[in-house]
Amino acid sequence: MNLSRNLLDTADRQPDRVALRAGGTEIDYASFLTAARAVAGALRDLGVEPGDRVGLVSANAPAFPIGFYGALIAGAAVVPMNPMLTEREVTYYLEDSGASAVIALDEVAKAARAAGEAKGLPLLELPAAGPAEGQLAGEPVPEPVERADDDLAVILYTSGTTGQPKGAMLTHHNLDSNARTTVEALIRTTPDDVIMGCLPLFHVFGLTCGLNAAVLSGASLALIARFDPAAVLKIIEEQRVTVFEGVPTMYGALLDTDARADTSSLRTCISGGSALPVEVLHAFEEKFDATILEGYGLSETSPVASFNQPDQERRAGSIGLPVPGMELRIVDDSGADVPVGEVGEIAIRGEGLMAGYYGREEATAESIPDGWFRTGDLAKADEDGYLYIVDRKKQLIIRGGYNVYPREIEEVLYQHSAIAEVAVVGLKHSRLGEEVGAAVSVRSGAEIDVDEVRAFAKEQLAAYKYPRHIWVVDDLPKGPTGKILHREVVPPEDLPVE
Ligand code: AMP
Repeated sequence: MNLSRNLLDTADRQPDRVALRAGGTEIDYASFLTAARAVAGALRDLGVEPGDRVGLVSANAPAFPIGFYGALIAGAAVVPMNPMLTEREVTYYLEDSGASAVIALDEVAKAARAAGEAKGLPLLELPAAGPAEGQLAGEPVPEPVERADDDLAVILYTSGTTGQPKGAMLTHHNLDSNARTTVEALIRTTPDDVIMGCLPLFHVFGLTCGLNAAVLSGASLALIARFDPAAVLKIIEEQRVTVFEGVPTMYGALLDTDARADTSSLRTCISGGSALPVEVLHAFEEKFDATILEGYGLSETSPVASFNQPDQERRAGSIGLPVPGMELRIVDDSGADVPVGEVGEIAIRGEGLMAGYYGREEATAESIPDGWFRTGDLAKADEDGYLYIVDRKKQLIIRGGYNVYPREIEEVLYQHSAIAEVAVVGLKHSRLGEEVGAAVSVRSGAEIDVDEVRAFAKEQLAAYKYPRHIWVVDDLPKGPTGKILHREVVPPEDLPVE
């Protein structure tokens, strides 16, 4: 077993079919595999051994798939990272995962270079289109290193209710089975399909449902580094895209744009990552004459867990039914099933469920106490088993499709000398879904300038994370144990959030 076998099989079946498209570049499956083998050789040359962890910092460009499959061929587990992360953040991921090398897209390698240097790790820089022939040192690796089903393929950083991001350990089997489910039960891609690759590949949704599903089925993946509705529409028209995959804010942006394009090639659209407003679903379908199937999953479940599947009746506002290979229950705090129609927490087990959090046995045991993973998502089911998400138990903020973990921002703000206490919360935002806000109280005797605090946070955090809105309060709302109650933090009425 090795997830990268899917690439070898597809390249063998259809070497000339275009695998990756980006800008004017087209890379066929044979060239994709050749480049990935070269990366595997270069990693070996840098001392990477099977079982090692390798960081991968890249935007959506061919360098990502090539680096990803190259590392897998070498038998390493990949730690994908957002290219917007700062040096401090990259260092955290590299340290936490015990990475022994970093692959980075050259255009965005600054933070990775600095973090890698500080840790004494070798860095493999790749141009956006992948390595040129003969560019890399080391002998190409022709055959993927044999891996067991439960060997790690990816460590994906994510955070539950508490603390720093934790690394969800996804095995070769987890990712392979979830890519198969995506292809067979959801998007049903064939080599004739072109999948729009605007979801970031460093996130589990884009990784499995975009990249790994394309490679498994031999479809083409049309990559774009940054989501822009007009540019995406143009790609859909020019490349005759058949499958669109997006988070709800992307659907909203496509709905709002004045740009026009021929989108008649679209065969199916899938949405996940956060709740798709029913108004957006209907308006999008009317404007583009397409069908959106909404589903649900998490980094910890590789991700696809439930979906409105093509051969089932679709229910708007619902995340559908469990997909093959995954089981979902709605439980109370004791782990017992709640009655139909009542709200409880979604618990999941099945083929996609992670092996645990890397180096965190306690957090693993807490989140999977009895074989069932507690998602922190509150939901209810109807009589037919369709699931409806009610709210998030955890306080994750999703800003324009990117996850922002309040606690991480709070840690940074607590470093500011004038700040006594802080609560970071999501503020409703018409375009981004949520915007990051922070309520702060001031240390006695200190003076505070919120613009200066914002600049302080901005310096240490990726652009999508730092709080755009900061306001001062006398005291933060607290529960009986002194715990800050985020849900009771109310922004001032005159706060200029869209
Ligand atoms: P991530 O691990 O980044 O994929 O985030 C997982 C979280 O996204 C879940 O715990 C949910 O809170 C949220 N999520 C995913 N899909 C949906 C959906 N269709 N509706 C509502 N929330 C969702």
